[in-house]
Amino acid sequence: MAEPRSLLRLRPEGLWCPEGDFYIDPIRPVPRALITHGHSDHARSGHGSVLATRETLDIMAIRYGGSFAGSTEEARLGEARTIGGVTVTFHPAGHVLGSAQIAIEKHGARIVASGDYKRERDPTCAPFEVVPCDIFITEATFGLPVFCHPPAAEEIRRLLDSMRQFPERTHIVGAYALGKAQRLIALAREAGYTETIYLHGALIRLCDYYRSRGIDLGPLEPATSENAPPAGALVIAPPSAVDDRWSRRFADPLASFASGWMRIRQRAKQRGVELPLIISDHSDWNDLTATIRETGAEEVWVTHGREEALVRWCELNGIRARPLHLAGYEDEAE
Ligand SMILES: [Zn+2]
Repeated sequence: MAEPRSLLRLRPEGLWCPEGDFYIDPIRPVPRALITHGHSDHARSGHGSVLATRETLDIMAIRYGGSFAGSTEEARLGEARTIGGVTVTFHPAGHVLGSAQIAIEKHGARIVASGDYKRERDPTCAPFEVVPCDIFITEATFGLPVFCHPPAAEEIRRLLDSMRQFPERTHIVGAYALGKAQRLIALAREAGYTETIYLHGALIRLCDYYRSRGIDLGPLEPATSENAPPAGALVIAPPSAVDDRWSRRFADPLASFASGWMRIRQRAKQRGVELPLIISDHSDWNDLTATIRETGAEEVWVTHGREEALVRWCELNGIRARPLHLAGYEDEAE
């Protein structure tokens, strides 16, 4: 068996596989990059070549233009390929459309870089798949026991209840453009909301893309001055637009925000959020620790977020762990 630790090393550009000479989610331009998902801190433009799922490649092209990399190659989920001396396989991560974990294997030793992931059901992307491994690289965005996300369907129920309670107020929900906005819309549809949902301009292209991939978002329209939503409508906007001039044009706006950070009341208060919705595309503490156990990994590397608490938890549970302190990751999706 190969030594799993030798499969990936830390360089200033990011995690590097010496045998395959590629990087995973590098933060600087590199000759060869494997990308887990389309969020801008993981998927940057300017690499020589990019290997990623079809959806991640499409999302990068939408955001950066068609020439975001010298060349691109599609990775199909579950399909193994050899790069240099290692075998590489992409597996679904359940984070946003196209998101994947990347498994690297050699002589029976396997390391999995999970990127960002969640375990909660999401109608807009393929569910997370547990990949048994020797070393599991996990995010820790919500890596503290205080972070315990309620079921998203419950939070959507609260939104729809508020809309019934205040039928004359325009509910403006802040949600990030890739993943969160579409999930919010899909969950509202599942909960029986059939009215037109209005979108800030910054969300339209990605919503169109999700629809082109067969995800049903129901009737959507842009929210513009010419196409003003009626009083009581549901409007989805990037978080920065919720409390600025853009939102003041609507009838009696009610500011809402869908984020895992809404678990912290003070954050909601600071942002002037009247209706905080705890909806996250990241794992909460219980799902992080459960996932680590399920992979059977004997060693865990912890990236971006609250690394120390999760490292400590691993050690208390007899799992070797270390923080990676990777610079440059700050998930736009939360
Ligand atoms: Zn992400």
